[in-house]
Amino acid sequence: MKTVLKCSEEEIKRIVSFYRDYYKETNNQTVLFMASTEFVTVTIYRTNKVQFQGKDAVEEYNMWVTMLGHQVKPETTTSVQQKHHNYNEVAIGSDEVGTGDFFGPITVCAAYVGSEDIAFLKTLGINDSKKLSDEYILQIGEQLKNTMRFSLLTLHNEKFNQLFQQGFNMNKMKAYLHNQAIIHLVNKLGFQPKVIIDQFAEKGLYYRYLKDEQNVFRDAEFYTKAEDKFLCVAVASILARYAFLKHFDQLSDSCGYPLLKGAGAKVDELASQIIKEKGEAFLQQIAKINFRTVDKAKELLK
Ligand code: MN
Repeated sequence: MKTVLKCSEEEIKRIVSFYRDYYKETNNQTVLFMASTEFVTVTIYRTNKVQFQGKDAVEEYNMWVTMLGHQVKPETTTSVQQKHHNYNEVAIGSDEVGTGDFFGPITVCAAYVGSEDIAFLKTLGINDSKKLSDEYILQIGEQLKNTMRFSLLTLHNEKFNQLFQQGFNMNKMKAYLHNQAIIHLVNKLGFQPKVIIDQFAEKGLYYRYLKDEQNVFRDAEFYTKAEDKFLCVAVASILARYAFLKHFDQLSDSCGYPLLKGAGAKVDELASQIIKEKGEAFLQQIAKINFRTVDKAKELLK
């Protein structure tokens, strides 16, 4: 992993001033400046090379690459799989939440991360939303909502079920929502950065889903597990999850049942109880009818 940055005199000054409070003395004559925090040690050599070491070395290196606007040469590796991603890539990331949950909507978010956002985002300890607790998502989601530039779309259950009955499959709906969110955000920004979508369908298929759309954003890049590879996708994922959680709580309150996330035996039981007490039409207002849960719930009633 690359963690040494060659810098100009000006850039060195910026880096020194950034880490000034963490200055550390050294007797090494080849070293111009050294700083050390709990997570990273930064050593600036008289050759104007800056080395990052420690737990956050790669993140810190990536942050500076972005902040200084360096072009990073692709690393020469023997395997294509080991492609190096710039986690702090300045880009729009797009991700969705709720497709694995029987109850509640699908939320899709496109979020922009600019170099000016990175220092703030680093303070939140952002990672894949799947690894963060719902409680923490609600906390940082609020902060992200007030700080970041993003576009968020919610596909509520009634609309989802209606589209499903018209023959839209889930991936087609997702493609439609990602495309809309990205176009909204690009328009809002007034410029067109790189766009990264957390891949749920292979690129060719994604664009085939959109073949009847008038306005299609054509230049997106697709990566699987993109929320682990790009900060912008992690942010989008958290904002989408934040919106999902808010809707989910409202839905639970208004329908009078403590709804459960995901799918599985407990969800089947709850769905069956709801059908029994309120009827299937009521269930369709709060759940996705393409799930096998519906059949299983009816099975339980027999
Ligand atoms: Mn995803």
